[in-house]
Amino acid sequence: EKTKKSFIQNIETVVRGYAKIDDEMYEDLEAVMLTSDIGVETTDYLLGKIREGVKSKEIRDGNDVVPYLEKCVVELLEENAEPMPDRTGTTEVIFIVGVNGVGKTTTIGKLAKYYTQQGKKVMLAAGDTFRAAASEQLTIWAERNDVPIVKHQEGADAAAVVFDATASAKARGIDVLLVDTAGRLHTKSNLMEELRKMARVAGRNIDGAPHETLLVLDATTGQNAVSQAKLFGDVVPLTGVVLTKLDGTAKGGIILSIKRELGVPVRWVGVGEGADDLRPFDAAQFADALFD
Ligand code: GDP
Repeated sequence: EKTKKSFIQNIETVVRGYAKIDDEMYEDLEAVMLTSDIGVETTDYLLGKIREGVKSKEIRDGNDVVPYLEKCVVELLEENAEPMPDRTGTTEVIFIVGVNGVGKTTTIGKLAKYYTQQGKKVMLAAGDTFRAAASEQLTIWAERNDVPIVKHQEGADAAAVVFDATASAKARGIDVLLVDTAGRLHTKSNLMEELRKMARVAGRNIDGAPHETLLVLDATTGQNAVSQAKLFGDVVPLTGVVLTKLDGTAKGGIILSIKRELGVPVRWVGVGEGADDLRPFDAAQFADALFD
């Protein structure tokens, strides 16, 4: 609703007055798109599409712009919404990465509930050994969901946690192992080394692990989240994004630029602080909310 107001409704207001498409309209459109956090690249892409629409005469005046744009935005959303492959039958190892405060721990708690409700056996691994609070918080989520957790002392080697967790998950026939990781990007080289080691160790115990490395991004930070993601993408190979805090922001437009800018889709969206406030990202649902 909030993104619709900041993005689509502002575009409607801008284009409504134009009986003829001219440069001024493109400039106004560009300004609205940039302020709604869809990013420079996606703005250029959409403006290019509108120019094509004008050329092909599908857009004749300002009133045709939004219906035309709807088609383009739906395409972009579909590009971004790629669900996780079904890995039933394996112990799926999912690394959750991201800077502190974006909602990593909460997302793990929500995912634990989601998979448990699907009848899967879930285990958590407290791979952020840097902050004692992270492990404590994760333990609360494990208790709430009644799932096992593997954790070590504060300051312990995170790779050792992953080693124990993957060995235990395999032995116990766990379906989904969710691994928390440290989020201190300011010590980038250490974090890179640590994440690499964690991945290596996971792969030693379970074939193909980690199967997913999901980057958690806070939607309220808009395009800054995309810049942050690029930094993380340099550190670890990502397979997808979890976009949290979509409930409290008008900056949901960033969803359109994630695949184009980062090369990975949005797997999940967080829409609140509660255990049920996580959804697999659904392009059609998001498009309906934007355009209906
Ligand atoms: P971490 O440091 O990345 O592990 O972040 P936390 O999981 O501790 O979350 C930080 C804050 O964001 C907490 O107050 C969470 O309740 C809140 N949070 C997480 N996800 C969402 C979401 O989807 N919506 C809202 N409104 N708040 C969220």
